[in-house]
Amino acid sequence: MDKRFQHFLDTIPAVADAAALRETFWLNDRKLPADRQPTPAVSPAQIEDARARLERFAPYLALVFPETAENNGLIESELAEIPAMKEYLNQEYQAGITGRLMLKKDSDLPIAGSVKARGGIYEVLKHAEDLAFAAGMLHPEDDYRILAEERFREFFGRHTIQVGSTGNLGMSIGIMSAKLGFRVIVHMSADAKQWKKDLLRSRGVTVMEYQQDYCAAVEQGRKNSEQDPMSYFVDDENSVNLFLGYAVAGKRLADQLARQQIPVDADHPLFVYLPCGIGGAPGGVTFGLQQVFGDNVHCFFTEPTHACCMLLGMATGLHDKVSVQDFGIDGKTEADGLAVGRPSAFVGRVMEPMLSGIATISDFRLYDLMRALLNTENTFIEPSSCAAFAALIRPGDLQRYLRAQGLEEQMPNAAHIAWATGGRMVPPEMRELYLHTGL
Ligand SMILES: *Cc1c(COP(=O)(O)O)cnc(C)c1O
Repeated sequence: MDKRFQHFLDTIPAVADAAALRETFWLNDRKLPADRQPTPAVSPAQIEDARARLERFAPYLALVFPETAENNGLIESELAEIPAMKEYLNQEYQAGITGRLMLKKDSDLPIAGSVKARGGIYEVLKHAEDLAFAAGMLHPEDDYRILAEERFREFFGRHTIQVGSTGNLGMSIGIMSAKLGFRVIVHMSADAKQWKKDLLRSRGVTVMEYQQDYCAAVEQGRKNSEQDPMSYFVDDENSVNLFLGYAVAGKRLADQLARQQIPVDADHPLFVYLPCGIGGAPGGVTFGLQQVFGDNVHCFFTEPTHACCMLLGMATGLHDKVSVQDFGIDGKTEADGLAVGRPSAFVGRVMEPMLSGIATISDFRLYDLMRALLNTENTFIEPSSCAAFAALIRPGDLQRYLRAQGLEEQMPNAAHIAWATGGRMVPPEMRELYLHTGL
């Protein structure tokens, strides 16, 4: 424990809990009404630009990843009601959920099988487009299916893309980059699962392995990339492009809710629960949702007790200037997708006026919840994803928020969305193992 941070333990109960590895729930007292929020660092026009770019690439994606063809090349997931899981949470955890409980199944997203298929793939496409535009080989009005031609693969093959990852980001960057023809190097932290490394190597991706944590893998990747003028580094700690790719989900979810005739307004509040690692994915989605729903959406991040970097960064206001290690926390968790010890350099700052709070959860509960979702809804998601239920199983704390916001009466009309962030690519034998893991 770093003594410089001791006073935070004495003054912020959630930080004291976090340092003691107790599950906790921090409510953000810096949240502001939408009309009083400062102009954000990322603009709605940038999200629209990202949305349009994904649309330009859609015909290409439908061609080279046939699994996306049924959705016309859009990388999107189902939003499903999970009433049996709601019953389970109400009985087992006295969650007291009265409105609808839904699962956003990014766990089934095509191509990469995790939420990273939004941000990671977007950033690779953006880089590919930038290069092809600059070379005069591609124009915005072209049919992007030409990108599958050999001359493009040859062109991209002269360039390298690198990234540091705990697993899933590497999968999305690796698979997409390799498909376009790039050389790809993924720098994997010690947390990364063997099957993810194997899968990437089978697609021609170079995987470098490190015995250290995520920050070290990112550092190595950045250094490596800087030494090569033909190399581009996807920088999860700072990337606005990743963030924009995730933010596109906001408008898409709004359309999906409308199609399913689920209202979101002052009488029908929307609650969204997002597993958080470095913050890009949940931050981008939250930002996108805020743009659409303003004060009617309430977003919560969820983190493992051993890797609660965003809670520490936001509660102390120090953001990327603190790490879990500064508070004597080891950063080790079974939730490999969330095993991050230091938050993004900019996401927490953007989230300051709009995030509702952050809940933490112990690893053993992730497995319990994973089995419960399988038993009640016949749906498999990976352990990291199950953190999405962390806030819902702390009804007392959630109640505190509802009282403060004057929302108690509307709760029977509310919709709750647990954002399932990964699962589809987990091989059958790993699923078996997970299902029999007791912590
Ligand atoms: C990466 C990841 C997250 C969180 O994304 P960050 O951008 O790191 O916050 C959540 N769940 C899974 C399964 C992930 O792989």
